[in-house]
This record gives sequence, C-alpha cells and structure tokens, in this order.
Amino acid sequence: MSKKDSKTKELKEKLFYKKKNIYKLVNDDVVSKAYDFCDGYKAFLDSSKTEREAVKYALEKAKANGFREYKAGMKLKTGDKIFVNNRGKAVILAVIGKEPLENGAKICAAHIDSPRLDLKQCPLYEDNEIALFKTHYYGGIKKYQWTAIPLALHGVVVLEDGTTVEVNVGEDENDPVFVISDLLPHLASEQMKKPATQIITGEELNIIVGSRPFKEDEESELVKLNILSILNEKYGINEEDFLSAELEAVPAFKASDIGFDRSMIGSYGHDDRVCAYPALEAILNLSDTPDKTAVTVLTDKEETGSDGNTGLCSSYLKYFFDDIACDTEGSKTRGTVILSNSECLSADVNAAFDPTFPSVVEKKNTAYINYGVVVTKFTGSRGKSGTSDASAEFVGKIRTLLNKNEVVWQTGELGKVDGGGGGTVAAYIANLNVDTIDVGVPVLSMHAPYEVVSKMDVYMAYKAFEVFFCD
Ligand code: MN
Ligand code: MN
Repeated sequence: MSKKDSKTKELKEKLFYKKKNIYKLVNDDVVSKAYDFCDGYKAFLDSSKTEREAVKYALEKAKANGFREYKAGMKLKTGDKIFVNNRGKAVILAVIGKEPLENGAKICAAHIDSPRLDLKQCPLYEDNEIALFKTHYYGGIKKYQWTAIPLALHGVVVLEDGTTVEVNVGEDENDPVFVISDLLPHLASEQMKKPATQIITGEELNIIVGSRPFKEDEESELVKLNILSILNEKYGINEEDFLSAELEAVPAFKASDIGFDRSMIGSYGHDDRVCAYPALEAILNLSDTPDKTAVTVLTDKEETGSDGNTGLCSSYLKYFFDDIACDTEGSKTRGTVILSNSECLSADVNAAFDPTFPSVVEKKNTAYINYGVVVTKFTGSRGKSGTSDASAEFVGKIRTLLNKNEVVWQTGELGKVDGGGGGTVAAYIANLNVDTIDVGVPVLSMHAPYEVVSKMDVYMAYKAFEVFFCD
C-alpha cells in the first residue's frame, strides 16, 4: 500500500460514519451474557401473552424486589421503590431518586398489548354441527396469517355476581388448542384471485371450538350446548357471561431459538414485550438509588391507538407525577414541573431490514438485526405526520450516553418515505412536555403471529435502559 493510500484510508476512518455488526464489536463474554438474558426473556414471553398476564408477571417480580404498592396520599422518600397497578392492564414502577423531583425523572415506556383476535360479545354459535367463536381482531394484522395455526384462549369472564374467572386454555401441553380453518388449495381458485386483504375477511376469522353433540337427542344446537356445558362445569359460566368478558385468542406456540446458531428468538408478541422485558429488568435491577427518579411504564392499548384509561393517551402517567410531587418528602414541586424536566425513552420496536423484501426500506436509514438497539428520531407517515420528532439536542444527549457506555446502537426509519409508516406512544408522552425518543429492538415479520428478533439487540435494549436510568 502506498503512503497516499493509507492516508486516504485514515481519513475515511476518521470522517465516515460506519455501522458495524455487533458481533464485530463485542467479545464472547458479552455474547454469552446476552444469550443468558434472553432465557429470562423467553420465559416472560411464554407466561405473558396478554397485557393482564404481563402486569401480573411485573407485579410478582416487583414485589420480590422490594417494590410496594403506592396509592396517592402515602408518604414517599428517596430510595422508595413503588408500583401503581392500573386496572391490572398497565403498571408504573418507580424508584424515587436522590435529586429533587423538580429536576425531572427518567422514564422508560413500553407497551404490553399485542395484535390478537378478541372474541365478540356474543361469540359462540353452531353451524352445521361445528361450534365456533366469532372474533374481532385487535391491532394491525394480516388476517390470512391467523388461519391454520394453533390458538390459545386467554382472558377473564366477569360473572353476574361480580366475581372474575380467569381463562387460560392452550398453553399447557395437555391442553386442547383452537384453530381458524382455511380453504384447501384444490378449491381455492376464486379465493386466490382476491387481493391479500380479502383472502380472509374479518368475519371469516371464526375459531373452531368443538364438534361433539351433547348426548343423543332431537334438539338443535347440541354441539353448542355441549361446549356451554363444558364451560359451565369448568368455569361456572353461561352464555350471557360472555357479554362481560375479555377473551383473547393468541398463537399457542412458545418462544424458540431460531437458527442453527441460536442467535435469534421466534415468538408471538415481541412487539412490544421485547422492550417491556428489558425496561422492567432495568428498573428491577437498579443496585443503587439513582440520582433522578427512575420510572418504567408498561402500558396497554398501544396497538389500538393508545386511547382508553389504560393507554397512554389517558392521564394516568400525568396523575402519577402529580401524586408523587405531593407525597414525596421535601418536595415542593408539581407534576407538571417534574414532567417538563423529564426524559423518556419510548421503548418500542422498529422494522428490521428483511433480505427477502428489501424494496420497502431505504437501506441507508433502515435498522438491521444484530446492529444493536434502534434509536428512532421520528415516526409517522406522509411528511412525518403524527410524530413527536425528537430534537437534535436530545438525540445528541442519547447518542453521547450510549457511545460512552458502549451500548451498540443504530438509527432506523420505518420504511421508505411515503411507503407506509406507524407510530408509538412517543408522541403522547412528548405531548406532556417530556423530551422523548423511540429506542427499541428491530423485528422481522412484525405483527405476524410469530415474530423474530436478534438476541444481541434485545440485550442492547436492556443496556440502553440501564445506562439511561443510571446516568
Ligand atoms: Mn409496538
Ligand atoms: Mn405494534
């Protein structure tokens, strides 16, 4: 190599921004830590397929780690570890920091609801001696992906006397599962000519739940009767009880390692448990009281637009800050002041580059698996509509933080300009006057019944939340 060549190379090294595969940047020790961390994540995935189950999991872990339930009016002081359970569907965990509350908090917010099929209010019917459930899908799905796969049923039924019955069928290996039928290819010539949005329609997402008639009789609807009889015996419910139920069909499969090298995880519901789990672990594992009050929010309803009292368009997060401003020893501030000085990592997934479908993204600005946690400055669509768009100053702060702590990270934009788009809870938290940016994990096949992430990216999300709280 000539002297001139090496100088060119040197200058390139100095001036170019180059992303690198994470396996070129970290040692084997970090890799094995990451893979171990993901064993815990897989257990969380299998036990927490709905927001209610994720809250239950979080509360159990929180209590085991010294967090106690906080209600407005209780006295708080530095070092206190608290949680607020919002109706069993969303949870706030917090550690009161050393600095005065008016200096602001560090907030990590992830969502624990995922796309799925909700049962309609009058779900059960019999058609040609097969019993089925009618559904209304929740969140953005490709409907055809939900046929011919095993489904489990999760949720609650509230009886007339006010008691709540929990339902979880299809997760234990001895449980039955459920399924939505699809047409055999031999008879699908008309179906296959339809656009993908109509191959399976919403009203065709009917779940098969039984086929055996109730004893021998001349009565009609004996298969339906038999199902109700089984449900009555097991849960004490009758058909009217479905009216006050939330029953959700989710894929019955478990999380698995993907690939000969086991470098990835396949599962239902990575979006957004892949950020919820690291955000939860980061606050649970804080070894010292942080300088600034640390807050992890695991929220509901993101997939349907964040409306409702358990979603982040609700005021429950704002009320929390109002309450701790009143209740914390020595505090003379207000919730609005705390929020105005707070920072938030909106912990949500982004799309990963898929070599089979490269045309939907712009390669210079998309996220790749194994390139670390994705920092997404803006979301939205059609001219950034709907985005909170983090400021250069706040991006700069996060950039410095991640670099100095050797957290491998990348930027990512969701698809080509005008190619689609999407949003997260970032805008709703930013609207409370909080500096907010999306930080999460890139996902392949996002919103499919079985999504894929890289183990190293999951671990880097955890590291990002950890250093954010500790900085
Ligand atoms: Mn999400
Ligand atoms: Mn989503």
